Amino acid sequence: MVKVVKFGGSSLASAEQFKKVGDIIRSEADRKYVVPSAPGKRNGADTKVTDMLYGCYALAEEGKDFTAALDKIRERYDEIITGLGLKTDLSGEFKTITENFKKKAGVQYAASRGEYLNGIIMADYLGFTFLDAAEVIIFDEDGNFLAEDTNVVLSKKLKELDNVVLPGFYGATRDGVVKTFSRGGSDITGSILARAAGADIYENWTDVSGFLVADPRIVKNPEVITTITYKELRELSYMGATVLHEDAIFPVRKSGIPINIRNTNRPEDPGTMIVENTCKQSDFTITGVAGKKGFVSINIEKDQMNSETGFGRRALEAFELSGISFEHMPSGIDTLSVFVHKPEFEGKEQQVLAAIHRLTAPDSVDIDSDVALIAVVGRSMKSNHGVAARIFAALAHNNINIKMIDQGSSELNIIIGVSNNDFDNAIKAIYDIFVTAKL
Ligand code: ADP
Ligand code: ASP
Ligand code: MG
Repeated sequence: MVKVVKFGGSSLASAEQFKKVGDIIRSEADRKYVVPSAPGKRNGADTKVTDMLYGCYALAEEGKDFTAALDKIRERYDEIITGLGLKTDLSGEFKTITENFKKKAGVQYAASRGEYLNGIIMADYLGFTFLDAAEVIIFDEDGNFLAEDTNVVLSKKLKELDNVVLPGFYGATRDGVVKTFSRGGSDITGSILARAAGADIYENWTDVSGFLVADPRIVKNPEVITTITYKELRELSYMGATVLHEDAIFPVRKSGIPINIRNTNRPEDPGTMIVENTCKQSDFTITGVAGKKGFVSINIEKDQMNSETGFGRRALEAFELSGISFEHMPSGIDTLSVFVHKPEFEGKEQQVLAAIHRLTAPDSVDIDSDVALIAVVGRSMKSNHGVAARIFAALAHNNINIKMIDQGSSELNIIIGVSNNDFDNAIKAIYDIFVTAKL
C-alpha cells in the first residue's frame, strides 16, 4: 500500500500543528510521500505566508526596502524550527531569496518560496528526502502545466527514493523559471504525485472533517459528505467550495485513485472519499450546495429569436470578442440571458453591449449586476422527483426571489441565481430543506 499525503496551510501553520502532522505520517509506514503547503493562518487575524510573500515581493518590485517584510516571514519559519527542536539552518536560503528578489525573479518564484521552505523543514523533521518541485513538476514558458512530461520525470525520480517530501504549489520550466499553479494549488501537486507514485490513495489533510454539504462559514456544523464523485466535487469546488482545488482531480482521475479528505485536528474522523464512481446513493437528496457572489446577467430580448438561426452563437460572439467567458446561458422563446463574472465584465461593458446590438439586433438588452449563483449538486437528484420544486418552495418560504434557475443536462446540478444579499440565506434554506428536514 502506498499513500500520498498532502497537508494544507492551517495544518502546518505552527510547530504545534507540525507535530500533529508528524504523528499522522509516522502512524502509518504507507504514508511515504508528503506534500506540504506553506504555513497558513494560526488564527483568524493571521496572514498566510504565501500572502506575506506576495506583499514582500511587491515591495521588491517597486524597488523599495523589503528587509523587514522578509524578516517577518523568516520569523514564521524560525518559530516552527525552534518549536520542533530542529537545527534546520535557512540562512543560505534567505540569502538566495533576498538576491533573487533584488533581481526581480518574478512573483511566481516569490510565492513558491512558502512551500519550498516549509518542505525543507518538513523533510528535516521527518527524516525524508527533500525533492525540489522545480526539478520534477514541469511547466511550459506560458505557465501551462505539462502533465505527461511531468509524469515521466517524476515517476522515474521516485524509483530512486523511498520517502519523499515534495513541496506543493509550484514547478518550473525546463529552463528553471519557477511557475505556480493558481491559489490553493498544492492540492494539484498532491494529485500529480499520487499518479506518478501509483498510489492506492491520496489523502488530503485539512482543517475540516471532510467535504461538507455546505460551507461551514455559512451553515453551522454542516453534515460531512461520506462519498462524493469526481464530477460532483468539480461542480462544487468550481462554485466556491474551496476545500479542494477544482483541478486537483485530473491527475488522479486518469488512474482512478480515490482522494480522502481528512482533518489534521481530528485524525480519527473518516472524512470524505472522492471517487470516480459509486453505487452508493448520497446521504441526502443533494450531495452538496455551494455558490459565489459577484455575477452579472445580460438579458437579451428579441421577438421570435428562437426561430432565428445562429442567434445564440452571435450573442456569445459579442462576449468572445472582448475575451469574456460565460458562466451560464439560460434561454426562453424570446429571451436569452448570459451570466458572466462581474470583475471580468465591468471594464468592457460598453464594448460588449455595442457588439450585442451589432451582431444580434435585439429588441432590448438589460443588465442585472446583482447576481449570486448557487449550485445544488447531487448524483441522486435525477432519481428524485421535484427537486427544483422543493428548492422553489424553500426559497419562497424565506422570501428569497429567484432570478434564474437552470438545470444542467446531466441532471447533476441545478443552478440558481439570487440577489447577493440573499446569498447566505438561500444556502441555509436549501441546506435546511434537503438536509435538516431530509426532504
Ligand atoms: P487547506 O489550507 O488545508 O488547503 P483550505 O482553506 O484550502 O484548506 O480549505 C478548507 C476550508 O474550506 C475550510 O476551512 C472551510 O472553511 C472551507 N470550505 C468551504 N466550503 C466547504 C465545504 N463545502 N466543505 C468543507 N470546507 C469548505
Ligand atoms: N500556499 C498556496 C496558497 O495559499 C498554495 C496552497 O496552499 O495550496 O494558495
Ligand atoms: Mg487549500
